[in-house]
Parts: sequence; C-alpha cells; structure tokens
Amino acid sequence: MGNHATTQRGSAVGAEALETLRANLGGEVLLPDEQGYDEARAIWNGMHDKRPAVTVRPSGVADVITAVTFAQQHGLALAIKGGGHNVAGQALCDGGLVLDMSSMRSVRVDAKARTAYVEGGALWEDFDRETAVFRLGSTGGIVSTTGVAGVTLGGGIGWLNTKFGAACDNVLAYDLVLADGRFIRVDAREHTDLFWALKGGGGNFGVVTGFLFQLHDLDPQVLAGARFYPVESSRELLGFYRDFTRSTSRDIVVYSAIWVNPADGSHACAIALCHSGESAAAERETAPVRGYGEAELDIIAPMPYTAWQQAFNPLVPPGRNYYWKSLLFTELTDEVLDIIAEHGTKKPNPASYAVIEQFGGAFGEVAKTDTAFWHRDIRYQLVIGGAWDDPTEQEACIQYVRQLHDALAAHAAPARYLNFNLIDETDVADRVRAGFGANYDRLVQVKTTYDPENFFRINNNIEPSGGRPGPAELNDAHRREEDA
Ligand SMILES: Cc1cc2nc3c(=O)[nH]c(=O)nc-3n(C[C@H](O)[C@H](O)[C@H](O)COP(=O)(O)OP(=O)(O)OC[C@H]3O[C@@H](n4cnc5c(N)ncnc54)[C@H](O)[C@@H]3O)c2cc1C
Repeated sequence: MGNHATTQRGSAVGAEALETLRANLGGEVLLPDEQGYDEARAIWNGMHDKRPAVTVRPSGVADVITAVTFAQQHGLALAIKGGGHNVAGQALCDGGLVLDMSSMRSVRVDAKARTAYVEGGALWEDFDRETAVFRLGSTGGIVSTTGVAGVTLGGGIGWLNTKFGAACDNVLAYDLVLADGRFIRVDAREHTDLFWALKGGGGNFGVVTGFLFQLHDLDPQVLAGARFYPVESSRELLGFYRDFTRSTSRDIVVYSAIWVNPADGSHACAIALCHSGESAAAERETAPVRGYGEAELDIIAPMPYTAWQQAFNPLVPPGRNYYWKSLLFTELTDEVLDIIAEHGTKKPNPASYAVIEQFGGAFGEVAKTDTAFWHRDIRYQLVIGGAWDDPTEQEACIQYVRQLHDALAAHAAPARYLNFNLIDETDVADRVRAGFGANYDRLVQVKTTYDPENFFRINNNIEPSGGRPGPAELNDAHRREEDA
C-alpha cells in the first residue's frame, strides 16, 4: 500500500503506520480511493461531502480501542458514525479518522431478564426486529434506519415515549471506550456520574460499543397509520390535533404534519398515530381521529410495530439533501398553529415538511436533573425540514425552513432538542449550553473528568474546563456549502 493519510492539521500519517493499523484490526481500514471508502463516507444528508483520512470499521471492542489509540497517537480528529443520520453531518470529519460502527450491529435479547444488549452501530430496525420476536420493545426513533446510538445518547423520542419514556431512560448500562483507550462498564453502580451524563449528553464521553436496554412487554401488533387531507385544510387539522392530544393516554403518540400524500405525491396535511395498547382500547381512543373529516387517504390499521417503524423510510430517503431546524413547545397556541399552517402550506415542494411530534406521559415524569436530557416539560416538537434532489430547489427549501423557524422562535421554548440540531447556527456553543439547561455545568464536570482534552468533539460539544474548543468548523463548512 503506497498510501498515506493527511490529518486535519495537514501532517501525514505514513503508509507504514496505516499498514500496521490494518494488520492489528479484526475489521476493515478504508483509505481514500479504496473500494468501499465512498460508501462508508455517505451519510443520510446528501449535503455533506466530507473526506476522512482513514475510516475504520471495527469488528469489536478491541478494534475500537485500537482505532481510538491510533487517532490519539497520530493527532487525528475522531468522528463516530452510528446510523449516519445526524443532519449536521457529525458522523464524519474531513481529514480525520471515522469510526464507522456499522460493522457492529448485533442485538441480543435476554427474554428472561427482559433486556437487550445492543452494539454501538445497530439501527432501530435491528433493535425492533430482535425485540418484537419476544413480544418486547422500548422507545426508539420513528425511522428504522436511524442509529440506536445517536438517538439514545441524545435522549430519544418516538412512538412509545409516552409509555416507556425517552430511549435513554431505558438504558441500564453502557460499555464505553474512553479517550485514553480504557474500556469501562458504566451503570447505576459504577461511574455513576458518567451514567447520568450518557443519558442525553451525546457522543461527548467516549465510544459506546454496547448498550444494555431494559425492555418492556409490547404486543408486536399495534394500531397505527395516518390519514391524509388536502393541504388547504391544514389549519383546521392542526387545531383538531392540538385538542385531541391534550388528553391522550400513554398508550398513544400522535403526530401531525404538513407534508406529502404518498399516494399521488401532492402537498397534503396528515395526522399519524401509533396506539400500542390493547386492541379494543386502541379502537376506542383512535375513533375521533378515524372519524375526523374527509380523508383523501387513510392507512390507519392494525399492523406490526416493525412495519409502522418503516413506514416513514420512503419519505426521507438517504442521499437526498436536507436542511432542518426544530423548535420545542410546552403548548400549541392558536398563533403558533396559524403560523405553521400559513408557512407550511407554502412550502416549496412536496418533499419538504413541517412535522409536530408529541411527547408526554412517562417521558415527562423523569425530573429534569435526573438525567442529562433536559426537556421533560416539553409537550411538542416541530421539525421543519427542507428536502430536495434538484439543486435549483435548494435556496427555496432553505428559506422555507428559516422563515418558518424565525416566525415561530419567539413562541417556542428557548432550548432545542440537540438531536435535531444546529445545522448552521452562528452561536453553536450557546445553543448546546441551552440544550442542556441547568444540567450543563454538571456535564462540563463529567466531561473534564473523562475527556479533559476534548478528544470527542465532533458532536454537540460540551467543552471541558480548559480543553480544546469544539467543532465550530463543522458548521462553518455547512454554511459555506450553502453560500456556494
Ligand atoms: C430520518 C431521521 C429520523 C429521525 N427520527 C428521530 C426520532 O424518531 N427520534 C429521535 O429522538 N431522533 C430522531 N432523529 C434524530 C436523531 O436522533 C439524530 O439524527 C441522531 O444523531 C441519529 O443517530 P445516528 O446514530 O443515526 O447518527 P450519526 O450521525 O451516526 O451519529 C450522530 C452522533 O452520535 C454520536 N454517536 C453515534 N454512534 C455512537 C457511538 N457508538 N458511541 C458514541 N457516540 C456515538 C456521535 O457523536 C455522532 O456524531 C432522526 C433523524 C433522521 C435523519
């Protein structure tokens, strides 16, 4: 191999060192121009075109330790790719080492203990498939190809959050490789400060090689689906949605969206739900939704939870260009709904969207300081997404997102759910701080203890006291792409 890797600081990692790395791994090393390199640096958001110097696909914990140690020795920045869904492209870096965890996706259920051991590169489809067989489950992201790790480390909301809490609330233990290459088990007895911090603090503390999840009884069959209406009726639908979700049980989660009618590709508004309770109760509780208005398309029906978890995948295909912002609300006032309907119905193309997600129930019963995840009093998140394949639509899509976001910002909670983050903000450090609320100072202490040099910094970065600054360059790079 006559190759070498160039670090972010411009120095070269020699071919010999790379050859030694390759020889020491059970998994793969991918260098620029090698087969598989481009596939490994492709992530969900097509806006990002980053070229790591080295990509490592570990076969297990030993490889993760080797990769972390190698990056440290050679001054390479390290990015961790779980499912690759971070919209700001935090799974990648230019000129550093990407640890592509997609080679570690196993999920092993212990049905007796009602737990699942989930490797750090698993996707929700892996998790759901394995747990459903045992009539068990837990809260996961609503798109099956999103990574368990990124979602869970940042908090994690989905169709079961009212019943089982946030995804992070269900983690019993983390297996973690620290910045100095040490492997530790983190749970309620050992490294308790870190256990608290990993429940919402993101990828700041180390590489999670495995999560031990608590599972719950979950009938693999749920009542789920969506009803689609003409986009002109968005405001009425949003009002119905707000009123309906004021008193729903913890067996149901309901979303509302201005998006697309999947049957004919036209602009549409929709109400979507997943009821995971007993079937008669599900019929009863969902009746008002099923009787609401004249739907153009109705796909609400009993179906496997695993099928519903894949239903949104075609609407958000990988490789498309995306630009996102999100806002959190404790209530949806008339004014907020007016603004969403007014802007949403003028979105530039059917692929772009405004989606309201419901939180509550068990999710809101954890105290704000019990875990690092702060947003327990929030009832709704609005995700505004610009989505386009045709470059001529880019400007209009980005403007749509910015305008709707800016029109609503004064009505929303000051903080953001950082998993839906921070694509081109100028004040990233302030946003991250706000996203952790009063938990931030404690997170800084934990970060300073376990990663004083800020080795893990390609994330929603918590800067250790006196450490290296975070990755402002990530956001600068994104802005440059947009301005081009
Ligand atoms: C289509 C889509 C649907 C989504 N739906 C939901 C949803 O329903 N609920 C929800 O809460 N969020 C959702 N999100 C947001 C999601 O939480 C974030 O995008 C999250 O970062 C995705 O995790 P990932 O592993 O796929 O991402 P990646 O981009 O691979 O990773 C993001 C960051 O997570 C950290 N990370 C990843 N793996 C590891 C690891 N093994 N160890 C340590 N750190 C790691 C790293 O800091 C990395 O930079 C969605 C995103 C998309 C694009």
